[in-house]
Amino acid sequence: MNKENPSQRTDRELGMDRNIPRRDFLNGAAMTIGAALLPGTLSPEGKKIDEPQNQPGYNPPISSGLRGSHPGSFEIAHSLRDGTFWKDAAAPPQLTEKYDLIIVGGGISGLAAAHFYRERASKSAKILILENHDDFGGHAKRNEFQLGGKLQLLNGGTMLIDSPTAYSAEATGLMQKLGIDPVALNKKCSDPGLYRSLGLGTGAFFDQETFGADRLVAGLAAGEEENSGDIATSSKIEDFLTRAPLSGTVRRDILRIEQSQIDYLPGLTSAEKKDRLSRMSYKDFLSNVAKVDPSVISFYQTRTNGEWGVGIDAEPALDCWAIGLPGFQGLQLEPGAAPHMSYSAAGYANGGSTRFHFPDGNASIARLLVRLLIPPAVPGNSVEDIVTAPVHYEKLDADTSPVRIRLNSTVVRVRNVERANAAHEVEVTYASGKQVFSLRAGACVLACWAMTIPYLCPDLPEKQKEALHYLVKVPLVYTSVGLRNWTSFQKLGVSNIHAPGAYWNSVNLNWPVNIGDYRSPRSPEEPILLHMSRTPCKPGLPAREQHKAGRMELLVTPFELFERKIRDQLSRTLAAGGFDAARDIEAITVNRWPHGYGYEYNPLFDPEWPAGQAPHIVGRKRFGRIAVANSDSGATAYTDVAIDQAYRAVDELLSLNS
Ligand SMILES: Cc1cc2nc3c(=O)[nH]c(=O)nc-3n(C[C@H](O)[C@H](O)[C@H](O)COP(=O)(O)OP(=O)(O)OC[C@H]3O[C@@H](n4cnc5c(N)ncnc54)[C@H](O)[C@@H]3O)c2cc1C
Repeated sequence: MNKENPSQRTDRELGMDRNIPRRDFLNGAAMTIGAALLPGTLSPEGKKIDEPQNQPGYNPPISSGLRGSHPGSFEIAHSLRDGTFWKDAAAPPQLTEKYDLIIVGGGISGLAAAHFYRERASKSAKILILENHDDFGGHAKRNEFQLGGKLQLLNGGTMLIDSPTAYSAEATGLMQKLGIDPVALNKKCSDPGLYRSLGLGTGAFFDQETFGADRLVAGLAAGEEENSGDIATSSKIEDFLTRAPLSGTVRRDILRIEQSQIDYLPGLTSAEKKDRLSRMSYKDFLSNVAKVDPSVISFYQTRTNGEWGVGIDAEPALDCWAIGLPGFQGLQLEPGAAPHMSYSAAGYANGGSTRFHFPDGNASIARLLVRLLIPPAVPGNSVEDIVTAPVHYEKLDADTSPVRIRLNSTVVRVRNVERANAAHEVEVTYASGKQVFSLRAGACVLACWAMTIPYLCPDLPEKQKEALHYLVKVPLVYTSVGLRNWTSFQKLGVSNIHAPGAYWNSVNLNWPVNIGDYRSPRSPEEPILLHMSRTPCKPGLPAREQHKAGRMELLVTPFELFERKIRDQLSRTLAAGGFDAARDIEAITVNRWPHGYGYEYNPLFDPEWPAGQAPHIVGRKRFGRIAVANSDSGATAYTDVAIDQAYRAVDELLSLNS
C-alpha cells in the first residue's frame, strides 16, 4: 500500500479479485435483449408459456451485483423511446386471457390500485399487473443476504414509512388493512439506542481530493441521526471542528452558523423571510446572506443529496431549514412551507407523518400487499412474520387466481379500443424476453413512471405528453455491503458517516430492528450490512438537468467501478480501525435507480403554474379507459402519495361506470 497516498491502493489490496457474489443470476435467464423480437409463443389454448418467475429457485431479492433497474429491465423501454422497438417487433399474438383491469407497474402504487379496485368494484375482479423488473415492489425492493449463516436484510430502495405530511385517510386505511401501525411497531421493534450504547455516533469522512487530507472525524453532531440517536450540542460541534482538516476561518464560520442566534434577515416578517428563503438556494443563503467563507460550502454541499438528489446549490434554503440545516435559529420562522410551494419537505417543520423502518424498508409493504392480493404467494398472517416469509413466485401468475402479477414484462403499448355494440376495452401489448404479446381488458391503470407514458400511449394529446416528459425522476444509488464484522466502526466510534466530498455521500451501519423472527446484529464481532448511498448529480446545473446528467452517468457505470469505489472509500475511511476491504467485504449489491424519486417542483427552477396547469395534473388526466397513478402523478416521492394516486386513478375509472 502507498502510505503517502492511501487512495492509491492496488486492486489486489482492495480485494477486487476476491470471490464474492457479484453477478445477478437472473440476467440472461430472464431476458434475452439484443435478439430480434418475435411474436410470443402460445400454448394450444392461446396462453403464454414459459415464464422465468415459474422456474425453481427464482428469488430475486437474493441476487447480488447490479440491482435496482437491473440489466434486462430497461432495454426494451429504451428501444421504445429510441424508436427502434417496432422495427424489430413482429405483430403480437392476442392472448386469450381477459381482465377487468390491467395495471402497468408493480410498485406500491400499482399494487395499491389492484387492492382499491377489488375493494370498490368487485372482490372477484380479474386483474393483471405487468412489471418490467424481475421482482414486484417498484422502488420498494428488498436485498437479502445470508451472512455468517444468518438472514440479514436491507432496503434496496424505498427506505421507510415517512412523509412530510400525515398519511391521508386512504393511505392510513390501507396501512391499517395491512396491519401496519407505525407507532406501535416503532416502539416494539426499533432499537435506535443500540449504537449509542456501544459508544458509536455520527462522523464525517473528509476526503483528500476535496479537503486536502483523508480523515475520519467522529462526533459530528449534525442534528438527530436516524439510527444513532446522536444529538447536536454546542460543545460537541466545537470539539468536532477542532479535529477536522479545515482552516481556522472555515471552523469559525461553521461554528457561527451552527450555534449563533443571528437573524440574517432582520426587519422581515416570518412569512416574508420564508418567501425569500424559498427563492434562494441554501448555498446562496450561506454565501451571500450568512456570508461564510467559500470553503464552508464544501462541508455542507451534499447534506441535501439524500433527500432531493441534488446538493445545496440547487435546493431552496427554506427546505434546508425544514430538514434542520443550520443558520436559521435566529430567524424565528413559523412552521410550514411558503404558500407558493407545492408538496414540500418544509412540511417536516410541522412534524411529518408517523415513521417506521422495516428491515427491508417499504418492501415489506409491497409484500403485505401481494399477500392481500394473492394469499398463497406469501404465506403467513401478521405484519411481523412478513419480514421472513418466503415468496412463492410461481404462484404470482396462476390461472386460478383473480389477481396475477407477471414479472419481466415491459408494456410497450396501451390503447383504447372501441368496439361496435359492446363495452369499450383497452388493448395492452407487452414484451417479455424477446417475445411480444397483446391482451384485452376493461380498463388500464398506468402505475408506471410518468415519462414512459408518452411512449406507451402515443395517441395522448401533445400537451399531456409534454407535461409527462417534464416529470424527470431523480437518480440515486443505494448500495448494500455485507461485512464480516464491524469492529473497525466500534474502534473509530462511528455508526453513520457523512462524506461530503466523496463518491458515496453516506455510509451507515444497518438500522437495528428486531421484528418477528428477524434479529439485527448486536455485537461488533457479528457480520452486518452497510448502507451506502450516492446521488450522481452535477452541481451548478438546474435541478432537472442534474437529474438527466446523473441518469446518463448511471447508465454507463459498470458494477466494477461501483465496487472499486466502495472498497477504496471504505479503506480510506476505516483503515485506522483495522478495516481491510479485501478481507472484510463479503457481498455487494448495488441498487441503481436512474429513475428514482418522483420529481418535486423546485421554486428555484420551476415556474408558479396557474391552478390545474402543473405538469403532474395535466399529465395524469384520464384518457378514455386509461387512468394514471404512480407517485409521479402526485409530483412527489413518497409512499403515501403512491397510494393516494392509486386511489384517485381507480376512482376515475369507476366513475366511468356510474
Ligand atoms: C432509492 C429510493 C428511496 C426511497 N425512499 C423512500 C422512503 O424512505 N419513503 C418513501 O415514502 N418513499 C421513498 N421513495 C419514493 C418511492 O418512489 C415511493 O415511496 C414509492 O415506492 C413509489 O411507488 P410507485 O408505485 O409510485 O412507483 P415505483 O415504485 O417506481 O413503481 C413503478 C413500477 O412501474 C414499472 N414500470 C415502468 N414502466 C413500465 C412498463 N413500461 N411496463 C411495466 N412496468 C413498468 C417500474 O419499473 C416500477 O417497478 C424512495 C425512492 C427511491 C428510488
